[in-house]
Amino acid sequence: MKWINHKLIAGATGLALTHSIAFSSVAILFATVPDAAEIHNYRTNTSIFKHRGNSHNPLVWLAVFVLVYAVLRFKLPAIIASLYPVAHFINLNPDQVITDAYWGALWGIFVHLATDAMTPGGIPIGKHKFTMSLFYTGSQTEYAVAFAIAIASGLVIYVTHGEITI
Ligand SMILES: [Zn+2]
Repeated sequence: MKWINHKLIAGATGLALTHSIAFSSVAILFATVPDAAEIHNYRTNTSIFKHRGNSHNPLVWLAVFVLVYAVLRFKLPAIIASLYPVAHFINLNPDQVITDAYWGALWGIFVHLATDAMTPGGIPIGKHKFTMSLFYTGSQTEYAVAFAIAIASGLVIYVTHGEITI
């Protein structure tokens, strides 16, 4: 899937789910991380990590998020304490910032893997390839699906009278 569509879907669904601009901004930021993690060199057209290899394996990301969760749980009081002077200055709640950052990042990456799994290239789950083969990357159908999900997310926010917060 194209980066613009990854970002559109992650941001729109994230906003519909949480009504939080902070959460969906982080989701948009992380929506392309699995591709960026392959460290592609555009000059030589080579990547350090294989395209849609472990960078797109949900089990790898699950391990990463469990690890980060464990570190946060263990270190959180110290991290929050260090954030307070900055957070106070820009009028933010550090607990909320960390919660939005963690779940926003998880959502962005989840949406990336889920939407890549809709294309014939699919994603690896362990040694197996998983694909729903719904449309080709960059096809008109892909753009239509991304646009439809964005509209549907907007409707969800509208009908739930969701108040958008920072
Ligand atoms: Zn990808």
